Amino acid sequence: MALEAETQAIVDQFEFSDDDVNRAVKEFLRQMDEGLRKDGTSLSQIPTYVTAVPNGSEKGLYMAVDLGGTNFRVCSIQLLGNNSFRHTYNKVAIPKHLMVAKTAQELFAFLALEIKKFLQEHHNEDFEHHIRRRMTVSAPEGFRDEHIFRMGFTFSFPVKQVGINKGTLIRWTKGFDIPDAVGKDVCALLQEEIDKLHLPVKVAALVNDTVGTLMARSYTSPNKHGSILGAIFGTGTNGAYIEKLSNLKKGLAGEYDDTTGHMVINTEWGSFDNQLNVLPTTKWDDALEKGSINPGYQMYEKRVSGMFLGEILRLVTLELHNNPNVSFFKDENSSFNDRGSVTVIDRDSPLYKPWGVDTSIMSTAEADHDPELSALRQSLEKDLKIYAPAYEDALAFKRISHAIGRRAARLAAVAIAAVVIQTGKLDDPELLGEEIDIGVDGSLVEHYPGFRSMITEALKITEGIGESANRIKIGLTQDGSGVGAALIASVAASMEKNTSNVDYIGELRSTVKAEPSAVDEKAASD
Ligand code: ADP
Ligand code: MG
Repeated sequence: MALEAETQAIVDQFEFSDDDVNRAVKEFLRQMDEGLRKDGTSLSQIPTYVTAVPNGSEKGLYMAVDLGGTNFRVCSIQLLGNNSFRHTYNKVAIPKHLMVAKTAQELFAFLALEIKKFLQEHHNEDFEHHIRRRMTVSAPEGFRDEHIFRMGFTFSFPVKQVGINKGTLIRWTKGFDIPDAVGKDVCALLQEEIDKLHLPVKVAALVNDTVGTLMARSYTSPNKHGSILGAIFGTGTNGAYIEKLSNLKKGLAGEYDDTTGHMVINTEWGSFDNQLNVLPTTKWDDALEKGSINPGYQMYEKRVSGMFLGEILRLVTLELHNNPNVSFFKDENSSFNDRGSVTVIDRDSPLYKPWGVDTSIMSTAEADHDPELSALRQSLEKDLKIYAPAYEDALAFKRISHAIGRRAARLAAVAIAAVVIQTGKLDDPELLGEEIDIGVDGSLVEHYPGFRSMITEALKITEGIGESANRIKIGLTQDGSGVGAALIASVAASMEKNTSNVDYIGELRSTVKAEPSAVDEKAASD
């Protein structure tokens, strides 16, 4: 039958073979290394200034805020020190007019006010006490050490980070447009407004959501060695992992504590292989590319993440429907349509709208093992406005969707495999036979049935991993922007102390240098 043959031909084009996986892993490792050496490469490998991950014993009360899209979240997190935490949070929609405000100050003043409301509502005692103390101190410097809450600030827009709590906005995305903020330090913008309200809060850390995921997983995971990678497979895809400082060859602008010998690196792997050395490209990938707002960029992400998979599926489905040699979602099929009615695609169907098909239907298709594919056919009607779809058509749709999802999972495995190999943890004699922990977040990995098992299957055929894939534990982790951000604030707090120690010793050294005789005397008496 023509439909079956055509479907198979399409499925074959999304095949990403074991050899393809292995070639891609090697290229991923090469691009990782390149990104550690210089700027302007396809994998940005951004140093985060976070030099340690938590082990679950951390304690204390921290705050976290998350600005990343439609909502602003404020929360406080009590780290209990036994891999667990308690949190309290408020969520408020960002008023549309503030997303396009004239000045950054207007938006950040709103955020500060929400922080104040949160403190009054949930931490009123601390708050009142603090305000009373502030009333009695007149000099602004007197306020400095009074900051009670350290806060992690998850800011999900492109930022050039230059310190643990310092980063300048490169550009707005997701419907925000406040030109005045571009190029400014977003932590300073927030701190200024917090200070105007005399709130007992210090913006201690600027947090990327992948780093938050890594930290949150490290804290909550039962693995005593913590996690090595935090990865997101949601709207977009990205990962942050622990790298040896000695491998980080490009210079670092800001200060950091180097005593751990490690630093968390934000790979920005969505742009892996923008040059298409190894990424697979079908004609539908090309079509998506032409219709995208950033042609040539985020090439890996466009084959892997939720924002794009639905669009690939839409483009394939539409083409197959328009193929004159095939009957697919057409009324010719009604003769054997077990529903006894005519298949019609509504003129308003999301199938006809670029970016109209949500990736969630792929999860529905994958999950449906009913002999009549009832759930999928219902979803085709309800979500895609394809009325009375025949069983054969739904089956073809399911097979195509599976092919796209499977390719995405195998590509996801490429990034995970490369990071695992790069860290050398599987061969670490101290970790012999132990689990290597990875935290993942995002709707795709959370809801697409079998996404994680397809990743593991691909890891098993990866040279350098093989059967050790069974030791790689991929755990779901939510709340990277809550507990993860709080943890980074706690790391930042400990760094503040370390940095001042380093400075103190540095100062001693320069004093000693200035007085050579003192050094000699000291050496002699030792
Ligand atoms: P974000 O990445 O913005 O934090 P999510 O992790 O929820 O948010 O990811 C949202 C993306 O996941 C969207 O692109 C959406 O199409 C896709 N998505 C939502 N639900 C599902 C699902 N059930 N299965 C697969 N993809 C989904
Ligand atoms: Mg998310």
